[in-house]
Amino acid sequence: MEGWTVTVDRRITKKEKPNTEQLEFGRIFTDHMFIMDYMEPLGWHDARIVPYQQLTIDPSAMTFHYGQSVFEGMKAYHTDEGEIQLFRPEKNLERLNHSNDRLCIPQIDEEFVLNAIKQLVYLDKDWIPKADGTSLYIRPFIISTEPFIGVAPSHQYKLIVILSPVGSYYKEGINPVKIAVENHYVRAVKGGTGEAKTGGNYAASLKAQEKCTQNGFSQVLWLDGVEKKYIEEVGSMNVFFKINGEVVTPALNGSILEGITRNSVIQLLNHWNIPVTERKVSMEELYEAYVDGKLEEAFGSGTAAVLSPIGQLSWGDKDLFINNGKTGEVSKALYDTLTGIQYGRKTDPFNWVE
Ligand code: PMP
Repeated sequence: MEGWTVTVDRRITKKEKPNTEQLEFGRIFTDHMFIMDYMEPLGWHDARIVPYQQLTIDPSAMTFHYGQSVFEGMKAYHTDEGEIQLFRPEKNLERLNHSNDRLCIPQIDEEFVLNAIKQLVYLDKDWIPKADGTSLYIRPFIISTEPFIGVAPSHQYKLIVILSPVGSYYKEGINPVKIAVENHYVRAVKGGTGEAKTGGNYAASLKAQEKCTQNGFSQVLWLDGVEKKYIEEVGSMNVFFKINGEVVTPALNGSILEGITRNSVIQLLNHWNIPVTERKVSMEELYEAYVDGKLEEAFGSGTAAVLSPIGQLSWGDKDLFINNGKTGEVSKALYDTLTGIQYGRKTDPFNWVE
């Protein structure tokens, strides 16, 4: 898309900005959004930033019927020096194209879309909250818009990017959570769409999440969809365990989403010479390690929370209490370093921010 430009139609009357103290996740959106259309034989075209607005889409548009859609999630941060930083955004666009491939959606030009996102974020930079732990959530997504209710890949799409200011995930400090191991429902199976970021995976997760919330847990621990034996993810995060000095995380197998935080955690642990292994981890193995006193820490990793320590895991009639319900040393060091890099308070040896 060399030579392409993004046209900009600025909003004349700006929306009222929210009180940073009361920000909830994902309910408030900024003044502008980015849109680009796809149609054959033109390809992706008409890249534009416009005032945030409703869309007019035909009720027969394919996205409403068979879920051919993909999305991403990343954040922009305000540094103490007043700069704006994105954390490894090129990885999100790479993953978007990976999801596109799985959902038969045409590839995007990653560099062009990243530049358009930066342009959008700079235009709406006054919406990036400044209080500790707050950020601007960036949600790129693609929907299939061809008016046709046959089951087939669409010939028309829209790529849209919206921005939402979000409050601090840990208002009362980082706090270990209670997790229920899900033995009935599964999120994804090998060969399915688990490694793509597509709405269907999240629709599939709702029932189990509803059940676990009713039972007083904050998230579910997903097991593999075939044997319900091996651990896959926790809620919408990747999961790590520290067992006898070694950090282990489930190896990518086609049904696990490759988290950018997961990748960053692995790189940091390697940098610190803390042993880290990607391999299959079964619930039996974890329980045995717990009984032997070797299960030292457990945590989830993802863009929203960065790191979420697990204080209790309930598996059928067994309860595993991890590190006395406290945040472990490695979890704390990872959280402090990742957030330090994101907010420009710590040096960034990997060139992760831009
Ligand atoms: N797994 C799932 C299912 C997710 O939705 C997410 C959030 N994107 C993650 C893992 C963590 O990925 P990331 O670190 O890139 O946010």
